[in-house]
Order: sequence, then C-alpha cells, then structure tokens
Amino acid sequence: MNPEFEDADETIVVAADDSSILGGDKTSADYYFDSYSHFGIHEEMLKDVVRTKTYQNVIYKNKFLFKDKIVLDVGAGTGILSLFCAKAGAKHVYAIECSQMADMAKEIVKANGFSDVITVLKGKVEEIDLPVPQVDIIISEWMGYFLLYENMLNTVLYARDKWLVNNGIVLPDNASLHLTAIEDSVYKEDKIEFWKNVYGFDMSCIRKQSMMEPLVDTVDQNQIVTNSQLLKNMNISKMTSGDASFTAPFKLVAERDDYIHALVAYFDVSFSVCHKMTGFSTGPRSKNTHWKQTVLYLEDVLTICQGEFVVGTMTVTQNKKNPRDVDITLKYSLNGCRCNVSRTQEYKMR
Ligand code: SAH
Repeated sequence: MNPEFEDADETIVVAADDSSILGGDKTSADYYFDSYSHFGIHEEMLKDVVRTKTYQNVIYKNKFLFKDKIVLDVGAGTGILSLFCAKAGAKHVYAIECSQMADMAKEIVKANGFSDVITVLKGKVEEIDLPVPQVDIIISEWMGYFLLYENMLNTVLYARDKWLVNNGIVLPDNASLHLTAIEDSVYKEDKIEFWKNVYGFDMSCIRKQSMMEPLVDTVDQNQIVTNSQLLKNMNISKMTSGDASFTAPFKLVAERDDYIHALVAYFDVSFSVCHKMTGFSTGPRSKNTHWKQTVLYLEDVLTICQGEFVVGTMTVTQNKKNPRDVDITLKYSLNGCRCNVSRTQEYKMR
C-alpha cells in the first residue's frame, strides 16, 4: 500500500561550485576512504530534488513539530537538514558529521547566521559527547542503495536509544523494501553475457562475479512484468538493529506474458507524524532519485505467462567482515506451463 505522497515540486537552488572549498591539501587517497569529505557526493544528494524537497516539506510544512524543540541531525553533511530545522523554529540543533564536510557545515551555518541555533559536532555519532542529555527529535538521511547498503541505519538507532526522549520523534519513521520483476534482455546481454565471449575469448569467470553484484541503475517502468511485493517494513522509532537482517517471502504475479531476466528491489520512506502523510518512493514507477533501483539478475531466463507467479524468499544480512556491505540470498521458483525453474542465488552489495 502506497501512502499518498506530497509532490516534491519546487526546484532547490544549490550554490555554484567553488573549487576553493575543496581542501587543497587532500589527495585522492583521502577521498577513497571517506567519499563524504568531497563536495561531489553532497552536490548529488542536494540536487536530488525528490529527496531534499521531501525533507524540506516535512520540516517547513510541519513547523508545529519543530517549534522550541531540540533536534539532532545524524550525519549532517553540508548541514542542510539542520538549516531547515533552524529556519522552522527549532530551539537548538546538534549536527553531527564525521567527514571533513563538518568543517564546511560549520562555515555554512555561520555564513547563514544560524551559529546561535546550530552546533556542528565533528566526529562519529558513536563517539561524540553531546552537550545535552536528551533530544526531542532525531532527523537523518541515512538510506543507502538497496536501503541498507552502508548500514547507517545502525547509527540512527544508536542515537535514538542513547539520546531520544520518551515519545520523541524519529524522521523518517518508516522505511520499506519492495521487490518486482522485469524483462531486461538487452541489458543482461550487455552486462552479464558479454563475458562469455570477449573478442573470441571465454571470460565466464568474470560473468560469475558480475552475476553476484546487484546493479544500481534506473529501470524503465515498461519493463515491469509482475506486481510489486512488500518485502520488509521497518518502523524506525521501534525497531532494533537486528531487524535489518531478515528473511522475507515473496510472490510475484505476472501481469502479462513475458520473459523475466531480473528482480528489482527499491525502497520507500515516509514521515507519518506529518500533518499530511509525506514521503517518497524510489520505485521504477516514481520520479527517479539518485538511489535509482537495485537489479538482481537471474541465472535463468523465466518464460512466464500472465497469472503465473514466481515465489521465493529473500534473505538480507550484514556482511560479517564488513558491516557496511549487504549479503543477499535469493531463492525462487516458477512452476509455469512453459517454464519450470527452482534456484538459489547469492549476491553481495559492496
Ligand atoms: N544530512 C545530509 C547528508 C546525508 S549523507 C543531507 O541530507 O544532505 C549521510 C552523512 O552521514 C554523510 O555526510 C556521512 O559522512 C555521515 N555519517 C555517516 N555515518 C556517520 C557516523 N557514524 N557519524 C557521523 N556521521 C556519519
């Protein structure tokens, strides 16, 4: 079920680039380990109007939530969400940011005259001393590709359990992961089967690797063959970090005769405490965002007839060696009149 989302209609204006804000003493190695220190990734996020405008609407159109409240911005980046909150009348905003961008956020806060209201704290949420014992609201834009890649959700839950008052608010308070199936012969040929014959040579060992890596890309809604299935709903106010690892069943029913080459995952987020239900979807039927969709190619091409269904389970777990990575196990089967397949495939987001 999709809540009715408010439109992210107006365009936000982002400051022109100024190479002087890029620390002159940094090398590419610094950015390799901490991409959030470079302004480029923040530019991409700020220019994602669906994302940023939704947060702005949540804050500006619901000032009653923020008036005289103490807010914690988890992973503040440029400080944009803190600035929105300050403008909406928050009593004080603590903006925690661990990358070098924290220095820029401090300057930005000052340049815009909010130094009295916003305190930027440079460091990891997990290591920082907050000057106050409790906050009324936690706001964060923590979502990664496939919702859970990068695993910043744990950081938000940590902050919630440590500092949020009883009955405090977490924004957004709901996130859900969805699955659908697509026809994708052209791209599967180009990205996967390519490796079977490279200038006459067999490079199938790389094909195996390319099959295991979910592809982050936009999917044309005309490629969708089945319904969408809700895999997992997360209540960010109540869940535990363990809830982000799960096994969920699915049943995808074909809406027409077609071939299925891949399953596609995407997420929705919503802010249910708003006066009017607000949120956005990163699905293929919605306006594109920088999260695009996540495509999981299937080993078999499924020949499916209208009304037949692919059933299975998806297991999502944090990688044990690197908790930022996500391991996905997909079990699926189709018992159709033209195709009988049953298989298990492993994927790794990294
Ligand atoms: N709130 C900003 C940035 C969102 S991106 C905006 O909406 O534009 C997430 C930010 O969280 C990144 O800048 C990243 O460096 C920061 N971050 C991730 N994990 C963190 C942690 N554990 N402690 C502090 N900051 C963190």
